Amino acid sequence: MFRRVAIIGGGAAAATLLSELLERQSPQSLHLDWYTGGEASARGVAYGTASERHLLNVRAASMSMFAGKPRGFLDFAQRDDPAIAGTDFLPRRRYGDYLEAEVARALQQGKAHGHDVNIIPFAADALVPERDGVTVIHGEESRRVDAAVLALGALPPQPLPGVSAAALDSGRYVVDPWRLLADRAAWPQPPRNVVVLGLGLTAVDVLLELSAHWPQTTFTAISRHGLLPEAHLHAASAPADDSAGLVEAMRDTPDIRHWLHLLREATTQEGSGWRAIVDSLRPHSAGLWAELPLEQRARFMRHARWAWERVRHRMPPQIRDALTALERDGRLQRRRGRMQSVDVAGDGVVLHLDHAGHSQTLAADLVIQTVGLNTDVRRTPHRLISQLLTNAHIAADPLGLGVLADTDGHLQRDGTREAPTHWAHVFAIGSLLRGTLWESTAMPEIRQQARHLADQLLAP
Ligand SMILES: Cc1cc2nc3c(=O)[nH]c(=O)nc-3n(C[C@H](O)[C@H](O)[C@H](O)COP(=O)(O)OP(=O)(O)OC[C@H]3O[C@@H](n4cnc5c(N)ncnc54)[C@H](O)[C@@H]3O)c2cc1C
Repeated sequence: MFRRVAIIGGGAAAATLLSELLERQSPQSLHLDWYTGGEASARGVAYGTASERHLLNVRAASMSMFAGKPRGFLDFAQRDDPAIAGTDFLPRRRYGDYLEAEVARALQQGKAHGHDVNIIPFAADALVPERDGVTVIHGEESRRVDAAVLALGALPPQPLPGVSAAALDSGRYVVDPWRLLADRAAWPQPPRNVVVLGLGLTAVDVLLELSAHWPQTTFTAISRHGLLPEAHLHAASAPADDSAGLVEAMRDTPDIRHWLHLLREATTQEGSGWRAIVDSLRPHSAGLWAELPLEQRARFMRHARWAWERVRHRMPPQIRDALTALERDGRLQRRRGRMQSVDVAGDGVVLHLDHAGHSQTLAADLVIQTVGLNTDVRRTPHRLISQLLTNAHIAADPLGLGVLADTDGHLQRDGTREAPTHWAHVFAIGSLLRGTLWESTAMPEIRQQARHLADQLLAP
């Protein structure tokens, strides 16, 4: 058992692990150092939004923090409003309230169990793993612990290639959409036309929020395929009963082209529709990903990722309806294309796009980059990650999907998948493990990881 543990990160993953640990009675008391990065503890980017328009994209019944208490979030929400159903998509703000309430409860419970938590409202700057412990450094202070867990979430977004320094300096190219939403009141005059680069769930949040606050503004959203994420159905559909045959067939031939063929076949045969097939693969995704050789993973990233994410990370139906209304009113247009460059032009910016070999030019007052979670540790200004990489304490996933780690979350120093070098006492949870697990960013996966990690940390 590790008695002194540092949890580094101030979001839902850290909060979930902390709560899992404090809930348990262990033979020896625990001492936890929780480095929250200075933000309001537990909410992170996803649940820090104050907007009622920003909904969970998972139904309330599936959003518990605890693998062992599946109704956790639903019970919490129903205490305020008994009319809430498990199939509802609730505001993410409410989920942030739940995270905070659970952390407060866990801190009390931990005290009763004799555990002790030191909340350090700063970012950890550096980490030095040694044979039998880890030194965690923030500012001038260093603390020695038996084990450390990185729960850093996604890394700060970076500008896409092709964006000029002048466009970035002008403030008319926004790299961090969350900061813009928080600071949008700082815009003296709403822009007339806005380009949103990317068409995933972040783009959806941005479009809904800004179109409400800037009622005269028109929006053009651009992605390679010009398609929005698919929507959930109003009524919940159960995952397909028996995906065992499909999973076995996929395991037998770990080849992306073959997998796509199998999926197409399965979705045409399955009566309950493609959503049921996609959802039924969720518990198997880490095992399937582990079967794929690196060149097949690279092929998936090049050819199938966008299509998979559209069907896998779906939006609530009421959000789809709101976007349809924006399109109908002529305020939102979707276009296909790849951004080649963005530069300043007069008071605005000009974008050069390429679509099927044809170049197009587009002028805008403001461009917002919404290209999904950044987990590429190879090109990040994140101080702790840079330090760990520079000192070769960790190694990057070759496809830019986080860090090398094993399926238990132990970080690897270097080496290949065949001959990895593990740290026995340095772990990660959440987005940094995408290279190992693929699906590793949402609560249903994070709570499983937290439970498993708590088992490992407390194992005799
Ligand atoms: C907009 C959005 C909506 C989402 N909606 C859903 C949803 O509906 N359902 C779902 O299941 N999932 C959803 N997700 C997925 C989401 O990523 C997870 O649910 C969860 O929020 C991830 O939490 P996290 O702690 O891993 O990351 P984060 O919430 O990003 O938290 C990481 C924290 O670590 C801090 N940190 C970074 N570096 C350091 C350091 N060196 N020292 C200390 N602290 C540090 C950061 O400041 C941050 O507070 C959504 C994600 C986003 C971005």
